[in-house]
Amino acid sequence: MAEAPRLPRDNLLHRLYWRLPPPWRHRGAFAETWRFITRSQRWSRDRMEAHVEERLVAMVRGAARRCPFYRRRFHELGMAPEDFRSREDLPRLPFVGRADLRDYCEEFIPDDVDRGDLEYASTGGSSGIPVGFYRHRARSRAVEEAFITRYRTWSGTTDTTRAVTCAGGLKDARGERQLWGVDRRRNTLALSSDDLTRENAAWMLPLARAFRPETLRGYPSALATLAALLAERGESLPVRVLYSNSETLYDAQRRRIEEVFGAPVFDHYGHSERVVLAGQCERREGYHVFSEYGILELVDAEGRPVTEEGAVGEVVGTTLLHDYFPLVRYRTGDRAVFTARRCSCGRPFPMILRPDGRLQELLVADGGRRISMTSVNRHDDLFRAVDQFQFHQSEPGRAVLRVVPGPRFDEAEAARILDILHGHMGDGLRLVIERVERIEKTRIGKHCFLIQEIEGL
Ligand SMILES: [Zn+2]
Repeated sequence: MAEAPRLPRDNLLHRLYWRLPPPWRHRGAFAETWRFITRSQRWSRDRMEAHVEERLVAMVRGAARRCPFYRRRFHELGMAPEDFRSREDLPRLPFVGRADLRDYCEEFIPDDVDRGDLEYASTGGSSGIPVGFYRHRARSRAVEEAFITRYRTWSGTTDTTRAVTCAGGLKDARGERQLWGVDRRRNTLALSSDDLTRENAAWMLPLARAFRPETLRGYPSALATLAALLAERGESLPVRVLYSNSETLYDAQRRRIEEVFGAPVFDHYGHSERVVLAGQCERREGYHVFSEYGILELVDAEGRPVTEEGAVGEVVGTTLLHDYFPLVRYRTGDRAVFTARRCSCGRPFPMILRPDGRLQELLVADGGRRISMTSVNRHDDLFRAVDQFQFHQSEPGRAVLRVVPGPRFDEAEAARILDILHGHMGDGLRLVIERVERIEKTRIGKHCFLIQEIEGL
């Protein structure tokens, strides 16, 4: 780019608008949700649990009456809707899997819901079965934003805190690809995370500094890339706090990002199907599961509850909000670490210790032994000479590590990486390194650390 791009100037009206309380800026479902959840976060645990129980019973009975899918299920179980009486009845219901959504998607829509109010959405097929589902045009996004805004207030920001965002590619109104863009209403400067190259960093980083953000939000992989580019150029981008979401934030990434930015990273966990949402408060003792949003269960491979401190299970979610497309005991394919502990902040929400990637984010060694990406991402400087990396596996016992080499990458670095990884992952998994020019991202620009192609995982 020949000339550094110029930022538009803010005027007094923008500044006043950003200072308004959130429900003044958003009406409808946002305002309604906001008023409720800013009160409910101060409830006692007992009061919150009573609310959850009441919502759950209404949601499940409503689904059993109004949705063809659940009507059939209840019939098969020999249950009437009224037989579902309390949270203790939840384990009696079978799980809803991705295959159910793929095969019976339309049957999850209640008879009395106007289809014109719904819009179809789908998850990418990069891991597992691609699935489609429906969202409510007026409610789904607004409710999500209210919950995310509440979560951010815990660490001292709001929905219009001046932010640089870096989460996916960007398009303008005509669908043309963009490298950056300013949203005055949201008070954000967005940078395309698909285009964080050394060449673009020469103008993107000064542009981000000139915007004078208080906070930086993005995919962990994008924040880590920004940190690496800043460190390489000996520059800084001062912010008060960072937020990551949409990909697993690994410890080594977090430490590196916090070191370069000199500010804490807060992370939240959610997914496209919107059954559960969890995020870190200012104390970062775990991820609060937002009780009013949905119920989170952790189950093992046989579907039994995981109750051991520090054990990993699959996240199963039940929505308490989205009765226009109710997902009850939906197997998300995500892993998380169990904790029975409560956070010292005193908020009335249970916790998970942390998300732990997706079920498909496991390498398979000879004999079927599984290796989590968490163990791969434990070393702070393992990938110090690599711009990006991704594992590909199509047979047990063997995997290809694709790397986009940085300027300091050489044969000795490659040997060092293999050495550490082999030592770390134990016997039964042979790795080879393949140099590539770029690594494909998912449709919405997320980075996958592993493309797992072994059938039936
Ligand atoms: Zn807390």
